[in-house]
Amino acid sequence: EKIAKRTVGFSGADLENMMNEAAIAIARENKKEIDMEDIEEASMKVKYGPSKKRLHDEYEREMTAYHEAGHAVLAHMLPYADPVHRISIVSRGHALGYTFTPPEKDKVQLLKSEMLDDMVVMMGGRAAEMLIYDEQTAGASNDIERATRVARSMVVEYGMSKLGPMNFAPQYDRSYAKAWGEPHKISAQLQEKVDSEIRELIDEAQKKAMTLLKKHRKQLDDVTTKLLEVETLDGDEFERVMGVKKARKDLKRS
Ligand code: ZN
Repeated sequence: EKIAKRTVGFSGADLENMMNEAAIAIARENKKEIDMEDIEEASMKVKYGPSKKRLHDEYEREMTAYHEAGHAVLAHMLPYADPVHRISIVSRGHALGYTFTPPEKDKVQLLKSEMLDDMVVMMGGRAAEMLIYDEQTAGASNDIERATRVARSMVVEYGMSKLGPMNFAPQYDRSYAKAWGEPHKISAQLQEKVDSEIRELIDEAQKKAMTLLKKHRKQLDDVTTKLLEVETLDGDEFERVMGVKKARKDLKRS
């Protein structure tokens, strides 16, 4: 049950890969059994790539810690965001650090409230950089890309903006004679509105991230301090610093 919870979204091949990695790791250490810690490490390796001992200076380390703490504190505060399972400043793959918030179950339906809160969490890294250092790093590029993708889908596909339920993506005529023709595109004026709606969603998320982190500055500092001390926190250790996360909000009738 524990393993299933932290591998939501993994394919069968990912699981096999994870167990293989765990087996290789314990063989290297001459251990006889795979324990939860080995599985945890292997699952992170499959998800984010191998951990690297990178020599970055104190300033870089602290900035990475603030960036990740920014994500984590917001994931903890926002009612529709998934709780923090692991947060780390040990670099893996291309990332200097990571905050892992796996969904508690495989979701088939995403709510607008969840997308909005997720976007705020994604902007949390950059917001922390700006709040603490009045500076911006390229490390936020992946966060920005993901947040932009969510905002674009909300406006273009899901009809979740002021522009209403219309699909704004180029559409192919599916009638038989025109199957290979040029797609219908929306007008330039409408495209401008679509872009400004996307812009607005991202701005709102960025503003909310900033406001919440300002308000919870002490927790942001506390998580950062702890991260600099131990480098990786699991969900329980994180909650020991932050307090227990309030129950996740769910769908209810209004
Ligand atoms: Zn980030």
